[in-house]
Amino acid sequence: MSIYLDNAATTPLCPEAREAMIAALDLYGNPSSTHAEGRKSKALIERVRKDIAAALNCLPAEVIFTSGGTEADNWALQSGVEFMGVKKLYYSELEHHAVTHVVEALVGRVEVVSIPFNEHGDHDLDWLEAQLEADQLAGRKAMVTLMHANNEIGNLVDLARLSAITRASSAILHSDTVQTMAHMSLDFGATPLEFAACSAHKFHGPKAIGFAYVKQGSGAQPFMRGGGQERGQRAGTENVVGIAGMGAAFAVAMANHEQDAAKMLDVKSYAIEQLKKAFSSVRFNGRSGELDRSLFTVLNFYIPELHEGGMLNFQLDLQGFCVSGGSACSSGAVGGSHVLAGLKVPGGTRVSFSRMTSREDIDALVHALQNLPKLD
Ligand code: PLP
Repeated sequence: MSIYLDNAATTPLCPEAREAMIAALDLYGNPSSTHAEGRKSKALIERVRKDIAAALNCLPAEVIFTSGGTEADNWALQSGVEFMGVKKLYYSELEHHAVTHVVEALVGRVEVVSIPFNEHGDHDLDWLEAQLEADQLAGRKAMVTLMHANNEIGNLVDLARLSAITRASSAILHSDTVQTMAHMSLDFGATPLEFAACSAHKFHGPKAIGFAYVKQGSGAQPFMRGGGQERGQRAGTENVVGIAGMGAAFAVAMANHEQDAAKMLDVKSYAIEQLKKAFSSVRFNGRSGELDRSLFTVLNFYIPELHEGGMLNFQLDLQGFCVSGGSACSSGAVGGSHVLAGLKVPGGTRVSFSRMTSREDIDALVHALQNLPKLD
């Protein structure tokens, strides 16, 4: 039996999503067909779109289903640079690879600028504001991409401030909201931005389905071409089963999100307390040890006497604990976590929680850390 503490990588499917997907398997009509079977599939897709839009305080037309967060991030950045006149692109080296690798590919087509951050991973928004004002004065169209919550260290960015400073300087804003969508309440009416990203498997929905939030009138162009689906914004027959599962998972998450958030916050604060009690040397990477500055799902810790040698996460795996050294998407990649490297910290273990995580899971983890068998 394993203890699953890797919910920032992915979450188990919830029963409501499973049921909705099983029911949707029988909706075989192509949503683009105008006959009765097609209309049944179309109706499901549009209902999910409407429900998501209502929760985000945006228009249904601004929710475009994609294969997940990576596609939504690619779309936003490429559209900004190719079609929206962006001359300068501000990003952070601490972003997920779904952003950094796209930015790297855009070097040469746009001026790319890295937003400075300190040893805790806090970005300098005063600096950014001054830069954007100068760009506006010089007539240079700018775009900013900054994730709402970092998937490795949980640091939260002040989205309201980012929205305000980008509005004031007419810059385009994309935020990778993959880690906060359906965990925190997001209001794109009150906090306007051009692009955001969602991935259903981060909130107990199925994998390979998500959506891009694309503000109407932003000037974005379709990412995928070849059909009129998704109001001409994203071609390809829709993933009806995936959309059904995401819709159900989203509805459950939003209906209970305050009590779930309180539960995860309790588990996280208990983990911090227990780790501190057991290991006086423990350090928390980024802002993950500060409850009010980081997302309640993510805790990234470093215990010098255990992490030295670099085998701790492997040892925990042998003991049945699913934890992570960095982003799941980059695990196995040479060099480990680019986020921890960016903060210049020697390493870490990310444990990440869902509404299914309990204090008992934390007790088991701390016990295992205190009783690790010696490596031969
Ligand atoms: N952005 C962030 C912050 C993530 O954590 C992830 C998933 O790990 C992604 C993007 C990619 O999302 P998906 O797996 O849906 O492509």
